Order: sequence, then C-alpha cells, then structure tokens
Amino acid sequence: MNREIPSAGPWITQKEKDYVADAVANGWYANWSGYLDRFEKKFAEFTQSRHAILTSSCTGALHIAMSVLELKPGDEVIVPDVTWIATATCVCYLGATPVFVDVEPDTWCMDPNAFKAAITPRTKAVIPVHMYGHIADMEAINRIAGDHGIAVIEDAAPGIGSRYNDRPSGSFGLAATFSFQGAKPLVTGEGGCLVTSDDDFYERAYWYWDHCRDKNLTLFNNGIGYKYKMSNIQAALGLAQVERASEIIEKRRRIFFWYRDRLGDIAGLRMNAERPGHYNNFYVPTIILEGDFAKTAKELMDELDRRKIRNRPFFRRISKFPMFKPINAPVADHLAENGINLPCPTLLTEEDADWVAKNVREILLG
Ligand SMILES: *Cc1c(COP(=O)(O)O)cnc(C)c1O
Repeated sequence: MNREIPSAGPWITQKEKDYVADAVANGWYANWSGYLDRFEKKFAEFTQSRHAILTSSCTGALHIAMSVLELKPGDEVIVPDVTWIATATCVCYLGATPVFVDVEPDTWCMDPNAFKAAITPRTKAVIPVHMYGHIADMEAINRIAGDHGIAVIEDAAPGIGSRYNDRPSGSFGLAATFSFQGAKPLVTGEGGCLVTSDDDFYERAYWYWDHCRDKNLTLFNNGIGYKYKMSNIQAALGLAQVERASEIIEKRRRIFFWYRDRLGDIAGLRMNAERPGHYNNFYVPTIILEGDFAKTAKELMDELDRRKIRNRPFFRRISKFPMFKPINAPVADHLAENGINLPCPTLLTEEDADWVAKNVREILLG
C-alpha cells in the first residue's frame, strides 16, 4: 500500500462551490455584504451568542478581544501552557504578560486549580482553550474568575460545535474566538470569528474591528483600531460550511471512534476524553504514549511519516519558547513529550483509519 494520508483537510461539497461562485459573480455593489450578513447571523445562532464579528483569523479575533479588555503593560492574562501560540501572543500584542499554567491529564485543558493558584492582583483575564475539541471546565473556571473579577475569553478555535450540558462552545465566557483556518473542522481558507452576548463588549469590539471609526462622522476615526475583516467570498464558503456543521462534526466524531475502536484496547495508550455531559467534536484524534513501548512518540511519528501517514506532535509547551520563562507543568510536559495527533482530514475513510491503526499497532507493539 502506498497511499498518502494527509494530516488534515476540509469537506467541501457542491453547496460550498455554488455559494462561492455566486459571491464571486454577484457579491458586489449593493450585494457586497450578503454572505457576510448571513454567515454572521448563522454563526451567532450556532454559538448561542447575541453577536458575532467575522475576522480574518482567530488570532485577529483574540487581538480584538484583548484590546476591548484594555490590557496594558504589567497586566497578566492566564493561559494554558500547551496550546497554539496565538493564545499567548494576543496578550503580548497589548504589552501585557501571559502567565502559563498546567493542564488536566484527561481533557488536556487548563487546570482550574492551577488557574486559581496563578491569580495575582494584576490578573485581568483568563483564556481557557478547548483542547482538541473538549470544552475546558468552564463551570470551575467561571466560578473562580467571577470570585476575582477576572474576564473569561474562550479560545474556542479547536472546540467549534462542541457542547457541555447542551450549551455550545463560545457561550460560556464574556466572549469567545473561533478559527476557520484550513485545518479546522469548518473552513474559509483563513478566517475567524469573535462572538459575545455582552452588548458593551460587542460595541467596543466592533469599534476596534472597524479601525475605530466614529459612528456619526464619515471618514473620521477616534482611536487606534485594526483591519481584521473577512471577505464576502470567504463568508460564502463559511456560510455553506456552518449550514452543514452537524454533518461535518458528526463525521469528525466518527473518525475518532474508528480510531478508538482499533487502538483503544492498547494498554498504556491514552486517547481524547469525553467527560459526562460533554459532546466533544474530537477535532484532533490524539494518542498519548503512557506505557512501556518499543518506540518513543518521536520514533513513532517519524516511522508513520516514512509510511506517508502524516501526523503532528502534540502542541509544545509555550512557556519553554525563548520569549518566555519555563514554568513547572508536569502534565503539559508529559503531553508535549508523548502525544501524537493522528491524521484527521474530514474525508478520511474507515479503510484509511484501518490502515493508520494497523501501522500504529505494528510500530508500537512490533
Ligand atoms: C487554530 C488555533 C488558533 C488560531 O487560529 P487562526 O485562525 O489561525 O488565527 C488559535 N488558538 C487555537 C487553540 C487554535 O487551535
């Protein structure tokens, strides 16, 4: 067998092509924002939020959210130590300091106790991340944040369509950010969204997003804002994707269960969790090597790659990057050392899952 299994990729149907073709042909002049308006409205509903602002990336949405919080040098924002870099850099953009904390061994999301222990008088916000699709412990995080007057911004990029007690990701914090980058479950090529149900937060976020335009004066700007907008053509793609969200997310879950059926019996191998009450989108099926295997995670990844089964390591520890100071985070350490993301293009077939699992078993168990 010589086929290549890509590490990620979307599910595009005729609907997406039709919407995009229509946007390209007709989405100008009076129709310039038709798909933007529809996608924004649909995505707000999807996340049970009053407001949505479409952006060019999740990173841009995070930057806007941090601006609304009016962070300044000396302020601290608590973030998990294993995540994508944007969760931390958005804090730095404002001159504030990201404070890293450890994660939980099963969900791989921010540990609420570690969050609590890291709070200082300078803590302004906390950014829990829904790691690989599992919603962070938002009840505990919201309770602790509430006790200390700390704003909660969900980095929901990996948790699109995930739910806890039938509430969707994006509806737990003061605001939340999403990504439609090409490797995420729902794509617009590049793209993102900021959602909130807080009217004041929305007003401020919209102002920053729109170059701090004065509402009453034409071509007059009364602040330093940004240009992080999505185009109508991308929104056409996004609208088709969110209209198909449940079938796409269900397919992502099926991929995870295919893997779990074929690998879940291996002693010392941990996979993504789904705590009671949770609906995990299982965005990235991941294995953590916790037993005595013939191969290390690095060796397994290299060997899979040689067999054209594309994979990625677990996120690294951000606090160990040269711009930051390493913290003590044994769980994050363990995940970063021993975790492997299995390939998960949305169009992966059951035969592909068979092939991947067969190779993983062969390499690990000999
Ligand atoms: C993908 C991702 C982002 C960034 O999304 P972009 O749209 O590429 O800016 C941020 N945070 C997490 C946790 C992500 O997985």
